Amino acid sequence: MMGEELSYRELNERSNQLGRYLRDQGVQADTLVGICLERSLEMLVGILGILKSGAAYVPIDPDYPQDRISYMVGDAGMKQVLSSSSSHKVLEQYGDLSVVLLDTDLGRMSNYSTENLSVAVRPSDLAYVIYTSGSTGNPKGVMNEHGGVVNRLLWTQSEYRLTAEDSIVQKTSFSFDVSVWELLWSVTCGAKLVFAKPEGHKDALYLKELIEGHNITTIHFVPSMLGVFLGSMELGDCPSLQRVLCSGEALQMDHVNLFKEKFRNVRLDNLYGPTEAAIDVSSWEVPLEGDLSGVSIGKPVANTRLYVLDEDNGLVPLGVTGELCIGGIQVARGYLNREELTAERFIANPFAAGDRIYKTGDLARWLPDGNIEYIGRKDNQVKIRGYRIELGEIENALSLVAGISQCCVLAKEDASGNKRLVGYVVSEEKLDKTYLQDQLKSSLPEYMVPMIWVELDQMPLTSNGKLDRKSLPEPESSDLSTKEYVAPRTEREEQLAAIWQNLLGHRKSRYS
Ligand code: AMP
Repeated sequence: MMGEELSYRELNERSNQLGRYLRDQGVQADTLVGICLERSLEMLVGILGILKSGAAYVPIDPDYPQDRISYMVGDAGMKQVLSSSSSHKVLEQYGDLSVVLLDTDLGRMSNYSTENLSVAVRPSDLAYVIYTSGSTGNPKGVMNEHGGVVNRLLWTQSEYRLTAEDSIVQKTSFSFDVSVWELLWSVTCGAKLVFAKPEGHKDALYLKELIEGHNITTIHFVPSMLGVFLGSMELGDCPSLQRVLCSGEALQMDHVNLFKEKFRNVRLDNLYGPTEAAIDVSSWEVPLEGDLSGVSIGKPVANTRLYVLDEDNGLVPLGVTGELCIGGIQVARGYLNREELTAERFIANPFAAGDRIYKTGDLARWLPDGNIEYIGRKDNQVKIRGYRIELGEIENALSLVAGISQCCVLAKEDASGNKRLVGYVVSEEKLDKTYLQDQLKSSLPEYMVPMIWVELDQMPLTSNGKLDRKSLPEPESSDLSTKEYVAPRTEREEQLAAIWQNLLGHRKSRYS
């Protein structure tokens, strides 16, 4: 289980050299430097090096389709990208990009001093730009500033008080902002940071081994993965674990109850926040004792104000549902190159002069005890296994596929309550699911490609002629798009298939 290790001194020296190299390349405040590589120690060296140089980092998942990478490189106006020998191929076509391979190009850095840089970084300088799904067809870059991120990290440390005795797991893809605290919290408090292997975050048994092998005390889960993880745990497993932080989608009562059964005396917190406000803006510590009446997203973090507003941006009374809006230092600068959208979603705070609020599109209400309850979304943004997806972005890509005359994509729950993407199409020719999926994969990440398809003669319309999303039929199990089916061959395969059927709510008849 032992892999490569880096001390804090080595980490600091290597990122100082990289920071100096980047300065030499001309980067300065608000320069956007791409970073495109798999999860590794180099990833942290790269991110710290970029931050030390005063520039901001833009994560690029090397598994993203070329079209998406091209869009991000162009939109962010990148000139430099840090990469690795195994990931840089996806960047080869951009002749004018300067690409540094962090695992092999060390010679380029070695002449630079390992001393700390004396670059003055201001709270209003950009720290990172993370791309998230955009409803109009392209992803949008959210510009986050140092002041917000530092506030979020300091709040976390004042709340959980980690020491050098703690160990944190880094398992979230760096394309999602949870990775920002996973990566940088340890740097602020000297805790050990343990990197999960690249695909390890999806594997509950691997994570159990990782936690037990490294005495992990602190780990994050999106609730759906927490459910899978808890399903593989026995009481007494992972004894080093002290706190589990959840965020990214609604935490369910079932998760909380199962957690309490499997982990006695481990703290469970539900954090809430969008990419547009430096990771999380509220938190709720799940009471370990007593019966719970519901799950909450808690109260605002330090230097943050939360408002529940009506359509006219007025405050709604306690208990009444409205749009959750965020004010304070963590609110992002806005969307890169999207002035109109920024003006729509980031508005002047009507309750505090000089402040701005971000309108989240989330519906919520204040509870009598001062906590906030999350209710859902007011638009077509969904979360599937923690991935934020604008259904409009998938529909846009689908409408560009030859032969598709009309389309719609929904997130539908299966029998076990798991959300899945379902693509509805009116097509000029007989539906070829594999073709559609291949077409979508050329511009969308895998998690945005529907696996279930329904072909319709025409789309249902409301009385005023608009697409009637509510009348779209439930998919038949035969609409499931699968690769060629191979039946279980051994007893173990039979057992595994039964577990997955149970978990995914698929009927056995499909497989027999
Ligand atoms: P992202 O920008 O990927 O962090 O996604 C932000 C969105 O995820 C929020 O606007 C919510 O819709 C949802 N979300 C994040 N945390 C929670 C939570 N604890 N409970 C319910 N929804 C959440």
